[in-house]
Amino acid sequence: MSLIFEPKPTPVVEISGSKQKFPVNRIYCVGLNYIDHVLEFGEDPKKVRPVYFMKPADAVIADGHNVPYPAHTKNFHYEVELVIAIGKRGSNIKESEAEDHIYGYAVGNDLTRRDMQISLKNKGMPWGPSKGFDKSAPISAIYPANIIGHPKKGRIWLSVNGVIKQDSNIDQMIASNSKIIAELSELFVLEPGDLIYTGTPSGIGAVFAGDQMDAGIDGIGTLMNRVV
Ligand code: MN
Repeated sequence: MSLIFEPKPTPVVEISGSKQKFPVNRIYCVGLNYIDHVLEFGEDPKKVRPVYFMKPADAVIADGHNVPYPAHTKNFHYEVELVIAIGKRGSNIKESEAEDHIYGYAVGNDLTRRDMQISLKNKGMPWGPSKGFDKSAPISAIYPANIIGHPKKGRIWLSVNGVIKQDSNIDQMIASNSKIIAELSELFVLEPGDLIYTGTPSGIGAVFAGDQMDAGIDGIGTLMNRVV
């Protein structure tokens, strides 16, 4: 086969304790998956169901790297999230077998043009560019499940310039990791290399050029990025 041009290299994420990298296939995201965040969005947790959307695979940006403040927003938001890294293909995966498909876990930041998201949402239009823009998916190294296990609880937090803004626990997720994998695998064939950002707790807010975002999940790892 001859290609008309040389394709871009596959985006990769570091693997903790290894020289090998994790090649990224797709990035799925879950919205509205913590009760406290659903409430801060003014929605009714009884009526809301977790929503799925995507970011491009090459939106990943590594720990320690700078995030350029994007165009077309005046309200650029952080969202700390637990990220699942898929290591095994599957569709219609049973909840009871979902963990077999998990390679590992990471700390992610689902960066958002909040003003654009709200404006498009209010018009009933798709809000893709408010979420799926370049460098919108900071991610820590991936911590393999065969080393750290499958964490079910642990503090999840994010600070801006050292001031804590988000502080919750991953046991507050509405849909569990296994439930998310079961539901997503009915919509898409999950492939090794897929990343799933599993939703953010309350405390979302704006950052500006010069700000430092530190985030972490106890039992997993940490993530730092500066906005420039
Ligand atoms: Mn999010």
